[in-house]
Amino acid sequence: MKKKETYINTADGRIRVEWWRKGDFRSKVSIIPIPDDRVLCDYCNAEINEFPTPVLWGTHAACKKCYIGVQRPKGGSNGNNK
Ligand SMILES: [Zn+2]
Repeated sequence: MKKKETYINTADGRIRVEWWRKGDFRSKVSIIPIPDDRVLCDYCNAEINEFPTPVLWGTHAACKKCYIGVQRPKGGSNGNNK
């Protein structure tokens, strides 16, 4: 099943964000060993308890704080397509 995708504006430009459910992270365990089935933020290592979780570029899981922190729209214009 295809994951939901959105785009956000950051200081580095527009980047793709995938929204993963908790089960989606189980298939990621082989790459990054995580005890139990905990999901950790790839930026600050905080445990993520809210799902679906934003995964930047489809590789970097971000907690709510980091996800908000990475968003730095240039010029204040919001090009968010729904
Ligand atoms: Zn974080």
